[in-house]
Amino acid sequence: MKNKKIEALYQETMVFLRYAVPEKNLSGAMQVVDRYREDIPGLLLLREYYRSLPEVREEAVERVVEMASYQGVMLFAVITEGYEYLYVVEKERVVYIGESGHEVDEELLAFFGFPAHEDYHRACRLLREHEVYRGTSKAASGRCPACFALEGEFHQFGCPVEVCPWCFGQLNRCNCRFDQLGVEQIGDEKEIARFQRLLTEKGRIRFRQDQAPAYPGLGDGLDPGDPAA
Ligand SMILES: [Zn+2]
Ligand SMILES: [Zn+2]
Repeated sequence: MKNKKIEALYQETMVFLRYAVPEKNLSGAMQVVDRYREDIPGLLLLREYYRSLPEVREEAVERVVEMASYQGVMLFAVITEGYEYLYVVEKERVVYIGESGHEVDEELLAFFGFPAHEDYHRACRLLREHEVYRGTSKAASGRCPACFALEGEFHQFGCPVEVCPWCFGQLNRCNCRFDQLGVEQIGDEKEIARFQRLLTEKGRIRFRQDQAPAYPGLGDGLDPGDPAA
């Protein structure tokens, strides 16, 4: 599922990488980026790493590990020779959390399903034994191609693959939101929130592989934009 956006992201990542990494480590670092040549979260993550170099260490990324994932929001570890850095990737947003093993807030742990700080620390200690992140773009990844929710999870609100529980059309395209709210237009955040509640009451449809076998406009799903617009 190649497109211009991914290509541009890849090229930018390579530019930042060339500035960041010492000559002798270049080819190894480039190979890691190549592994995610068609994967948006992987490229977003590596671009952010090489663009901002946490703790200003000029180190090549040796591997990327996905520590946890919930509803398309992913907790990643970027691993270099000597360090491990944690990031959260949500749609187009990449947030640097800190070095692995450092304290993180309860909310983040709860969100990703770590029952206690111990569980998080244990996951941090085992990072280097974790299998390498394979990317989301392969069909076998079992993820929604637009919001990266896993099979059986809810889509991110506004995901273009989400099926409308009223008309079984495409939820972000059909007219049900207006019918349900009894309005001609959605004017503000309050109405979006009200629609989210109605949707939850009705029962949202979780992602299933067969919902979007050939979902064409990957680009569409990545524009943050107004989810209910
Ligand atoms: Zn989705
Ligand atoms: Zn509908």
